Parts: sequence; structure tokens; C-alpha cells
Amino acid sequence: MTNVVRDVLGKRFIVLLLLLSMAAGTVGIVVSRNLANAAEPVQLPTFNIPPVSAEFEASEKPNVLVIATGGTIAGAARNGDKTNFQNYAAGTYTMADMVAQLPVHKTADVSTFQFGNKGSGSYTIKDLYDLSLAVDTALADYDSVVVTTGTDTMEEIAYFLDLTVRSEKPVVVTGAMRPWDVIGTDAPANLYQAIKVASSNKTKWFGTVLMLNDVIYAAREVTKTNAHRLDTFDAPMFGALGYVDDPAVRIYRAPARAIKAGTEQWATPFDLKTISKDSLPIVEIAYSYQEAGGGAIRGFVEDGAKGIVTAGTGAGGISSKMSQARSAAIQQGVVFVTTTRTGSGTMYDSGTGATIGGDNLNAAHARMLLLLSLAFTSDLPTIHSWFQSFGTGDVEISVDENTVLKTSVEEEAEEPVVEVPASEEPSVEPSAEPSAEPVVTEPVETAPAVEEPVGAH
Ligand code: ASP
Repeated sequence: MTNVVRDVLGKRFIVLLLLLSMAAGTVGIVVSRNLANAAEPVQLPTFNIPPVSAEFEASEKPNVLVIATGGTIAGAARNGDKTNFQNYAAGTYTMADMVAQLPVHKTADVSTFQFGNKGSGSYTIKDLYDLSLAVDTALADYDSVVVTTGTDTMEEIAYFLDLTVRSEKPVVVTGAMRPWDVIGTDAPANLYQAIKVASSNKTKWFGTVLMLNDVIYAAREVTKTNAHRLDTFDAPMFGALGYVDDPAVRIYRAPARAIKAGTEQWATPFDLKTISKDSLPIVEIAYSYQEAGGGAIRGFVEDGAKGIVTAGTGAGGISSKMSQARSAAIQQGVVFVTTTRTGSGTMYDSGTGATIGGDNLNAAHARMLLLLSLAFTSDLPTIHSWFQSFGTGDVEISVDENTVLKTSVEEEAEEPVVEVPASEEPSVEPSAEPSAEPVVTEPVETAPAVEEPVGAH
């Protein structure tokens, strides 16, 4: 073969390779376009969360990020009047300034991220979607997160986070009833204490908790009970999870959810990364009272509500006019959840039927669960099941029987009889009084030592 022929063949081969690789590239683009069309990619928000600093990285203390949204905790006295607890400018100070004013924290290295700076009631559900994703983004690097919000809708924000954050690391929500710079403010103390709870790691696997006034509550159970008092938060049917005092953070009970720690059942189905915030539906609350009309329900439906929670009288009853409006709305596919306006009490769910029992979630909590449920499914039985599982704080302990340590009674019954030397045998004299203690002569060695079962104390 001459050099010329070799050159020509070589060039043709290269051209052929080029054509093939271009064709392959085109196929690649088509495939990726097809995939993109098959499942519309979700546009996820990004956040300027500060990385853990080198100094904090080197320190032994846990890294806590405070994500600030505003509220009274960041409020400033109006016209310099530091004695007025009701008239002030909420959401004024930045969290970086506030943390800088605190004494250096004994138990945590604290960083801050300003998500927003306004009253809790000004946030939209779409904002809460972003907030939840910000919390999860932060928990990829930080050991725990404190979220500061206004107290007015804090229970709703906290429960939204509880239902959506994927990380098992501690999330502690706090705020204040008096602005940052007035006399007798609870703001710096609540911020300091919330950081302490978060850095203790004691609420890992608890979901979101709320801490104000040194008391720790489960997000699912807590509600604001007073417009002004510092001890406004309470969990009417359940009480506190624990307390934070100077020596320690003490947890006295765990939410039912914590029992599922480390299992698939711990995580809710509400993974926000898989949905667009545009798919969060309108869900409203209709309050019943003496001869309540059906107009609220009809109006909500007209406005596009996909779900409605009723806050009924007593055990969840609603007026006959409301009831008629509800029946008509159900015909149009609106999903209803029954709660009570009394502030506590359980609405049991039958698992079927057009209305769902809201367990003992208050109306605001039940609305968050219904809203998220409807964002992820329109299947009514599935929503029933989510209210019965994630909405219900029912404790069930399941233990693998094969791994259970035997009780001492069972153990004794199964133990082979141990020969006791005659000299060591206890002398037990039956008493005339059946209830009297038997007289036992030392030394007593009635049975071989039995190891105490774990958890006996
Ligand atoms: N209006 C305030 C808010 O919820 C009240 C508070 O923070 O306590 O934002």
C-alpha cells in the first residue's frame, strides 16, 4: 500500500469515527431530553448557608446553626420605649448581631443564617417549603439547627418542619414574647437556651421540638395558649418533653415518633425535594359555632381549596348548615378532616369514609398534615393511613421476642434445681400470721445470682 493510499484510508477512518461519535452524542442528548420530559425536574432553591468555619471545625464543641426568620425575638423597642412589650418593631435585629450580644456559648459553636426577618404570620406555605429545605441543607454540615420565628404561627411552622425535614439531627424552634431590647425580655434567654437544647443532641430522632421559657415540647403537640404571657406554650393533652436549666437539659419523655428511630417508618412520605412548591395545595380551616353558616366552606371551595379542616364543637360536631356545605364540597372532591375547637380531645378515624378523624391534632396542625398529604397524593385511603400513622402519636413497642432478656421469674422457673449444702440451707419458719414475713436465718442463698434484666431501673 502506498503512503498516499494509507493517508486517504486513514482520513476516511477518522471521518467515520467523527461521524459515529457525533451520532452517539446526538443520541445522548435525545435520551437526556426524553428523561427530562418524562419527569419534570424539580427546581430546588439554593441557600447561602455559611460553611462551618475552620476555627469551629477545630473546636470540640458541636456546631449549631441558628436560622433566623424574625418575629418578636428580633424585635426592637418602638420610640426607645423599653417598657412597652406590645408596641415594638418585630423582625428588626439580625441574628448575627443578636448572637454577638450573647455571652460566648458554653456548649456550642454558633453560626447564623438569616432566612428572613419578619413576623411569623407573613410567611407563605411556599416560604415554609424553602425553610424546610434550608434546614436540611444546613444539617448536612451542622450538628443541629435552631430556627427562630415569631410565636403567633410558630406551632404551624414547627409542625411543618417536623413533617418535612429529612434529617434526624435536632431541630429546635424558639422565639420570644418580649422584644430583644426591652426590660425583662425573654428573647436572649430563649435564644441561649434553645442553642443549649440543640447542642445537647438529646432531641435527635425526636423530629422538631419547640423550646420557650425553658420548657421543651413536641412540635406535634404544642400550641400557643395566651396572647401575652411568657409561659404561653403548652401541650394540653401531653405536657412537656423536658426542661432546660443551668446544669442540664433533661428529657423526661420522648414523642411516639422517636420509638421508630433508625427505621424506615421514622421518615414521613413528605420529601419536599420530590415536589415543586407549586404543588402545595390550598387547605383551609372552617370554625363551627352556634348556627354557623355554610358560606365559609362554599367560599373556600370557590377559592380552590383542595382540603378543609373543620374545628368543630365538642367532639368535632359542626352545624347543620356547615354540614350541608361539607356534603356538597365532598361531592366536588374536597377532602375534610375533623378536629375539635375545644383545644384537646381525640377525633378517632375509622380509616374509611369521606371525612378523616384528626386524632388530637389541633386544627392548625391538622391543616398542615392535610396540606402535605394532598401535595403528595389524592388517594383518600392513603391520606386516612397517613393521619393514622404520622398524625397519631400512638406508642407501640415492638420487640423481637428472640432477643428479649428473660424476666427473673421466667428465668427462675427454667433454672435447674441447684443443690444447696445442708449447712447453708435457710431455715424458714412458717408463721401463724399468713401475711407476716417469714423468719430467715443468715446466710441466705436461695438461688444462684440472676443477672438483672436491662432496663430494670
Ligand atoms: N407577631 C409576632 C410574630 O409572630 C409575635 C411573636 O413573635 O411573638 O411574628
